[in-house]
Amino acid sequence: MTIGALIELQANLKALNLSSMARNLEGTLRQARESGIGYDEFLLELTAAELQARAQNSLNRRIREAKFPLLKPMETFDLAAVPELDLRLFRDIAGCGYIREHRNVIFLGRSGTGKTHMATALGIEACKNNFRTRFISCHALVNELIEARQDRALQRLVQKYVRYDLLIMDELGYIPLSKEGSELLFQVLAERHEKGSVMITTNLGFADWTQVFGDPVMTAALLDRLTHKAHIVSCTWESYRLKQSLKEKGKPRKDNPCK
Ligand code: ADP
Ligand code: MG
Repeated sequence: MTIGALIELQANLKALNLSSMARNLEGTLRQARESGIGYDEFLLELTAAELQARAQNSLNRRIREAKFPLLKPMETFDLAAVPELDLRLFRDIAGCGYIREHRNVIFLGRSGTGKTHMATALGIEACKNNFRTRFISCHALVNELIEARQDRALQRLVQKYVRYDLLIMDELGYIPLSKEGSELLFQVLAERHEKGSVMITTNLGFADWTQVFGDPVMTAALLDRLTHKAHIVSCTWESYRLKQSLKEKGKPRKDNPCK
């Protein structure tokens, strides 16, 4: 292949939006010549690399758009540390079937039990499965909604939050909501109902949700929708950090073998 033909081919590939193929062309051509592979295998190699690069770019974009506070993928979650967790259910949720079925997931439990970590890991799994995902704390979401209402941009924002395949709302119940805040949150959750999945982490038992939302009638309506066909994961175990620090204390110290 002449230099001119190579440059033209690279330009064609770029014009066809096959930028990874354009980038890999020269190297793959050289390898093909050296190893003597045929046209078919050469093309297969180039196209496979293009597809792989696209999948990686799209995963990176989904993860960026999800705005996870910390990137904690599934591998970083120690299942052995939480033997009380229903593994079958957890693995089932990780498979993302609930998103296809527009079902919700609620993690209930004390602080430090790994709810945010699990929600993040499951959110990353959702991104890997190409679902539009957004992670946000309940408090931040409510603030955004209140600001948007003041700017007369509420409907647009609500629609944005309705369009995600998975909306992860972290820390519901840590801070009580104003009447306006709970009404706006209710609006988002009501509009998402049976259109997309919501994953919630909370330290509150359902009986205490009225304390956060104020109005008992609205709370009942909200709970009814949220828990309908939802997976509810009760994190009944001790705080992970507490368990870790107790374990550390129980360990014999290196500098004092008698202990
Ligand atoms: P919660 O949201 O329930 O308050 P977090 O998810 O913030 O708890 O967990 C507290 C800390 O403990 C975090 O740093 C988290 O990464 C870690 N952690 C909790 N559970 C596990 C686990 N099973 N494996 C690894 N790290 C964990
Ligand atoms: Mg948390």
